[in-house]
Amino acid sequence: MSQAPSLSRTASSDRPHAEGVDREAQAILDQVRREGDRAVRSLTMRFDGVAPEQTRVDPMELAKALDQAPAALVEALRASAANLTRVGLAQRFSEEVVDVRPGVKVWRIWRPLHRVGVYVPGGRAPYPSSVLMLCVPARLAGCAEVVICSPPGKDGLPAQNILVAAAVAGVTEVHAIGGAQAVAAMAYGTETMARVDKVFGPGNAHVTAAKRLVSGDVAVDMPAGPSEVIVVSDGSVPSSWIAADLEAQAEHAPDALGILVSTNPVQAEEVARLADPKYAAQIRVRTVASMEAALEVANGFGPEHLILACRDAESWLGSVTHAGSVFLGSHSPAAAGDYATGANHVIPTGGAVRAYSPLGLEAFGRTLQVQAISPQGLARLGPVVEPLARAEGFLAHLRSVQTRLDAPAAAERNVPRPRRDVAAMHPYRWEASNAEIAVRAGISEREVLRFDTNTCPWVGATLTGLDHLELNEYPDSDYPGLVSAVADYASCPKETITVGAGADELLQLLALAFIGPGDPAVIPDPSYAMYRTLTEAAGGRPVMAPVSDPDQLMRSALQARLTWLCNPNNPTAEPLPPGFVEELARQSSGLVVVDEAYFEFSQTTCAPLVRELGNLVVVRTLSKAFGLAGARVGYALSGPEVAATLARVRPPASLSTISAALGTRALKEAATMRARVQALLLERQTLANAIAAMGFTVPQSSTNFLLVSCPSGLADFLEAKGLVVRRFPQDHALNGWMRVTVRSAQENAQLLDRLATWDGPRAS
Ligand code: PMP
Repeated sequence: MSQAPSLSRTASSDRPHAEGVDREAQAILDQVRREGDRAVRSLTMRFDGVAPEQTRVDPMELAKALDQAPAALVEALRASAANLTRVGLAQRFSEEVVDVRPGVKVWRIWRPLHRVGVYVPGGRAPYPSSVLMLCVPARLAGCAEVVICSPPGKDGLPAQNILVAAAVAGVTEVHAIGGAQAVAAMAYGTETMARVDKVFGPGNAHVTAAKRLVSGDVAVDMPAGPSEVIVVSDGSVPSSWIAADLEAQAEHAPDALGILVSTNPVQAEEVARLADPKYAAQIRVRTVASMEAALEVANGFGPEHLILACRDAESWLGSVTHAGSVFLGSHSPAAAGDYATGANHVIPTGGAVRAYSPLGLEAFGRTLQVQAISPQGLARLGPVVEPLARAEGFLAHLRSVQTRLDAPAAAERNVPRPRRDVAAMHPYRWEASNAEIAVRAGISEREVLRFDTNTCPWVGATLTGLDHLELNEYPDSDYPGLVSAVADYASCPKETITVGAGADELLQLLALAFIGPGDPAVIPDPSYAMYRTLTEAAGGRPVMAPVSDPDQLMRSALQARLTWLCNPNNPTAEPLPPGFVEELARQSSGLVVVDEAYFEFSQTTCAPLVRELGNLVVVRTLSKAFGLAGARVGYALSGPEVAATLARVRPPASLSTISAALGTRALKEAATMRARVQALLLERQTLANAIAAMGFTVPQSSTNFLLVSCPSGLADFLEAKGLVVRRFPQDHALNGWMRVTVRSAQENAQLLDRLATWDGPRAS
């Protein structure tokens, strides 16, 4: 049995008597319901001493308040709203169809509430942060109309900071009404204010009573009472920090509570001594024998906020059963959650955490339930329906099923659905195959020249002397030879290296391991098309950001679960600005994947940073400069934690023994590769000059391919002779350009010869 002493909330002596408050609130509700705007006006006069002609605040006042507010406050509100948005979007309702039986599908879909009302207290301290906490999720949930009610000051307007926050949250309908009359106006509507579907927000005793009393007529959110925190500590976090947390809670209101439950008596005493005596009635300190006992006390109380200020805080999370918002570890004060983390600070109090959750998007909508049944599905359900319908005496129920089953049904093929995200994907569009092009051009397949693959015109390693390989056995899944060769070549420790079947496999593993359903993944536009495919296949949400606008790319990346970067970028052939990758990785909380497929041509790399920046991964390939695209060898360089994550999801033997041996060989002959790359870079210059001399536009390239202006019809004109360039569709940022791989001098000459016979325009 439990040895832990339990805690109770003592009723504050100055709290108004509940019955009296209920009576007064009911009278106000009745009056507004009867007399509408007239009642609102006279009650506002009575309680707030002003009687504005109309309650609706002119939207110009919001714009003005935003304009006049201190820039730092506006910036902070915007940052807070951005974090709430980041969390809210990730928590958006999303549900897969359930295939209950073949031919029987059930699912639910989200529908936002149409019009919601948010009460924002004025009084002693108007809280702009609460406006965001309530209105940002409402907007994200898709509510068409969000209305704020907040009591007017002497100027007839709600507090300026409330108006500023409303403007930041994108709310345009604000009414200067306070107290129970605001709840009444929202719940029942008046001549000038339409009723809402649900009333949200904290308030004084009258507001809380009014919300409870209207709850039969309109939905209301959770009960909100005095704020409270329990800090559970084991002595490992400085006492002054804990005392500050308790005081922070106490400063909310005279009835707010801050409680320390500590396993460390010395600390308990110290905190009691440090806490400001003016909060003596609100701060309590308890000592218990163990962390288990501390959590038992906390669970028994069910606090709004619970701070686990102890070692290995996350490991205790499993023991938390009743708490609203939990803060883990020494550096997670509740104040950070009040304003900034992106978690919601509207949380059930007074033990209501037993039945209610912190405010989230789900409170602003509901779901429809959908079922779809095929003839065969219905046949499967018949034996379930029949006895139940008979037992309940509902023979018409039975007939409505039977009559359908009696009708002849077409045969049905039971085709399983792919995951919803996969069914919705943009399929990757490949260039035509050699065989197709050969037929169209009337040439043999061997004569087709691919300028669209960005491969190199040399074979990086041959099979000569590899006949000793034991191909009857699986490859060693650690690939020790290949990993050593990569370590030497890239000057990286082995534990930072993950090898895979081409860069593509590593990119796929990163998406699989780091992008979850609905997670935002930033994709530069234009860039390598697989980033989008892999993001969508993982169920993530592609957030496209123009590669030409590093500032926007940076801003988007701050909120991303994963950011894809390609340096130098395919297909623009340009490097990212110096220092950009490092800056972005330092700012972003998500994974930053830098695809350096073309590293050998540019020599720009951020590989030396991967040990310091735990969220940075470099992916490279042997398909380009090493001339081994057919062998499928790539590698990732990352901190050991990301490498360990990749090891969880990678197949043990995706690289063949042959590929690993060829890759090892090629890496050991890196000097040869470097010489070939030098020659290719000269060839690139020759080709670029020759194409430019014909009047085409050829921007600078840091890769083994060129972008070339591509007037309409030119790509087809080249392909008619079996010369394949990469073209970009109408909706692509590079439409009007073609991407041309630098091949051997002789192959490039064929391209130049054909281009010379083009008598159309040179610009796109
Ligand atoms: N990343 C980029 C930017 C690429 O252009 C390519 C291939 N075109 C790849 C990755 C794929 O490389 P691999 O052949 O190693 O899968």
